[in-house]
Amino acid sequence: MPELRQNLATKEWVIIATERAKRPDNFIDLDTPPTVEREPQHDPHCPFCPGNEEPAREIERWPDDGPWQIRVVRNKYPALTQNGDPVRTFDGVHRCITGVGHHEVVVDHPQHNLTWALMAPEDIEQVLTTYHRRGWSILENPKMEQIIFFKNRGPHSGASLKHPLSQLIALPVVPNYIRHRIEEARRYSDDHGQCIYCVMAQDELNRGERIICANDHFAAFVLYAALSPFHLWIMPREHSVSFLYSQPDQLKALAQILHDVLRRLYYGLNDPSFNLIIHSAPLKEISNNYLHWYVSVIPRVSRSAGFELGSGMFINPALPEASAEFLRDVKMPDVP
Ligand SMILES: [Zn+2]
Ligand SMILES: [Zn+2]
Repeated sequence: MPELRQNLATKEWVIIATERAKRPDNFIDLDTPPTVEREPQHDPHCPFCPGNEEPAREIERWPDDGPWQIRVVRNKYPALTQNGDPVRTFDGVHRCITGVGHHEVVVDHPQHNLTWALMAPEDIEQVLTTYHRRGWSILENPKMEQIIFFKNRGPHSGASLKHPLSQLIALPVVPNYIRHRIEEARRYSDDHGQCIYCVMAQDELNRGERIICANDHFAAFVLYAALSPFHLWIMPREHSVSFLYSQPDQLKALAQILHDVLRRLYYGLNDPSFNLIIHSAPLKEISNNYLHWYVSVIPRVSRSAGFELGSGMFINPALPEASAEFLRDVKMPDVP
């Protein structure tokens, strides 16, 4: 019998298509070899490879001296620009705000064909520390309301470039999607006196069937109401509203669990495309205690279509419990 499942935190429904569920190994990408095998270590035509830097667009680099390991640059084709103030207009029918914001690219590593699964945990930790530093810097801009940190990786993720990159976009509004989540979290807290995200994480740790891995600070699990195969969350085990409140030991633990999870995807599903997003509280609401930040990873191993667009509801052709078991059991080479 197929099941409709609901994510209690987001209120999103999904159809788990048990009747036509595919085995987890049906989602292994057998058509394309991993990026590290397809691409050179250095591409002379890549705008993010060493030697092709555009100093005018650079915001920061790490380390300050010698060859860089990480750079942050202004996006060449930004979705929003930093010039001017957000100006609102509304004529009764049309609401508009001038597109003021930040759109930055984080060059995660100098090597062109790497991906986080093949980087050292210490390298990922430095990227996360860079996000954290940029986040606190943008927080000083009172015009900004929300920062989204994200990664598009691979041809099915929307990524147009192959170099290992992340992006951040800071917005002059709080997206409705995030407002909705705050309202749901507030409602649950009013009704039950608890954070729904804390309840979900503890329940997953108690049950274990959808847990992929965990450490002292984080738990990674395939969602009970996963919207697509292997759709997973990495959640802080202690309640915290914003990624910006993370301490150095938490960033280290996050790097370790991301490394572990992304290696499982890489070796289990043959370097699948994925999107990775940090979901965190609006900048002016990091002192309210309702939300609970987390990282979502969405491997792009199946396609959505008309039904999803028409209903906002997904059909997941994989059982979340089977997806989690598959990722727990992936055989991986030792970390060099
Ligand atoms: Zn490159
Ligand atoms: Zn919580």
